[in-house]
Amino acid sequence: MKRTAVVVLSGGQDSTTCLFWAKERYEELHALSFDYGQRHIAELTAAGRVAALAGVASHETVLLGDVLHGPSPLISKAPLETYPDFATMDGIIGNRIELTFVPMRNMLFLTIAANRAALLGADVITGICQEDNANYPDCRQEFAWAAEAAINRALGQLLSDDNRLHIVTPLMHLSKAESVRLAEMLPGCMDALAYSHTCYAGRVPPCGECHACVLRAHGFAEAGIEDPLIARTGHLTPA
Ligand SMILES: [Zn+2]
Repeated sequence: MKRTAVVVLSGGQDSTTCLFWAKERYEELHALSFDYGQRHIAELTAAGRVAALAGVASHETVLLGDVLHGPSPLISKAPLETYPDFATMDGIIGNRIELTFVPMRNMLFLTIAANRAALLGADVITGICQEDNANYPDCRQEFAWAAEAAINRALGQLLSDDNRLHIVTPLMHLSKAESVRLAEMLPGCMDALAYSHTCYAGRVPPCGECHACVLRAHGFAEAGIEDPLIARTGHLTPA
């Protein structure tokens, strides 16, 4: 394992947890955020706060503008689907790819992160998770392996190279509740989660009914731990 890591930091729950996971394992952290015209631009403010709390060596926000197109409500004016609770949401989404999916977003993010990591001799850490009840194809283990292989090919590195680039996905097989329990064990992580931003509607306090809010609330409820963000800001929609 290398001593330096580039952490893809959206400012949400998963990337915040990954940053503090990495803090326990690497000597030097570089956080990397992306401004791609997302509706929930508030997450970039959160990313700055979280990066500062983690004491990173650097935090870069890459300005991508509206380079990613598509019908996802995250990057268009399409309305966000809302859900009254987790069970209803699970039933509605089923095996469908989530409406908020942005084609090629994670590949683009990993490509830029790999550029920075190649220069630093660092691992790339991302909070993608295949247990996310969202069926995002670019959050699955097979994608992470394939992206790592493609990136190493692009960098001219072979499977046997000691310095090959690794894409590390600490949350890949964790449920949201398991992620919360992990966060609780990482020094400083819960304090940072109080300033993380998850809500797709970009609301602070969180809207409580978008996919991201419902999933986050379900994770904390299952873990039996109070969400420090809700403790700090309260609910927009009284629970
Ligand atoms: Zn929300």
